[in-house]
Amino acid sequence: ATPTSIMVGSGRGAEKGILFKGGEYLEGTQAIEAVLLDKTGTITEGKPRVTNVMTVSGSNNDFALVAAAEKRSEHPLAEAVMAYATEHDYEVEDPDSFEAVSGHGIQAQIDQHQVLVGTRKLMVEQGINTELVEDKLQEFEREGKTAVLAAIDGELRFTIGIADTVKPTSKKAIEELKNLGIEVYMMTGDNTRTAQAVAKEVGISESHVFAEVLPENKADKVSELQKKGKKVAMVGDGINDAPALAIADIGMAIGTGTDVAIEAADVTLVGGDLSNIAQAIKLSQKTMRNIR
Ligand code: ADP
Ligand code: MG
Repeated sequence: ATPTSIMVGSGRGAEKGILFKGGEYLEGTQAIEAVLLDKTGTITEGKPRVTNVMTVSGSNNDFALVAAAEKRSEHPLAEAVMAYATEHDYEVEDPDSFEAVSGHGIQAQIDQHQVLVGTRKLMVEQGINTELVEDKLQEFEREGKTAVLAAIDGELRFTIGIADTVKPTSKKAIEELKNLGIEVYMMTGDNTRTAQAVAKEVGISESHVFAEVLPENKADKVSELQKKGKKVAMVGDGINDAPALAIADIGMAIGTGTDVAIEAADVTLVGGDLSNIAQAIKLSQKTMRNIR
């Protein structure tokens, strides 16, 4: 495209809240054939809140230990647990030690107690049986909630349902992409059942969902699609998404997301409205048509 059409196109983009880091990305966006969307914070608001706490055994008061375990975690789910604990007046101590288990949860030590919070897999790997609560977990997951388990000193104590609302614009934005002939995929570290419930809500087909993807494997999903010969745009907001944003043909960061994601991306969607993905593609097409 000519420098003038690039300038005009970039200006139009900026007006809509689509910031291209350079003219080459405005030019490149029209070639996109597949869009891979992160779930949490991209399709959803990324503001999870605790909706259910079920005591499996022991005292409700020990929820304070669960919150203490989450105190040093930077995961949005941890923030949801902390907010719930504050609202319910639990006194939350500082953990003596804390460790994040990538893609699965956390492990912490508080006052001689060993506390585990996270997925089934995290529990099972520590020899904790989760069969007793499986029905409840699946009920949460079918509602699109993240089911989190908590164990204290090797005993399963709580199941926690955490909900994150889908952005009101996501469904329509995905439909717009499909109308442009673009394939839409979703990727998440969350459980398969939760992921499928959210995908269904926004119109992403079952076969286009990558769930339970570990943070270190997110970029591989982009390469898998690229190996099928597709030009891929990755859209995400998290630190976890940065490698995938960098490897994609076009990386698009949610403006309300982390600085790390914004730095790794080629385009920033300022307000986080996914409708701007289709807008960016159309703007790119128009810019390229004006060249000749
Ligand atoms: P995502 O960013 O898609 O949520 P992650 O890899 O960060 O993916 O997490 C995957 C899963 O691990 C979460 O859905 C949750 O079940 C569990 N998990 C991770 N961190 C925590 C935490 N701090 N507290 C509870 N569960 C966690
Ligand atoms: Mg995210």
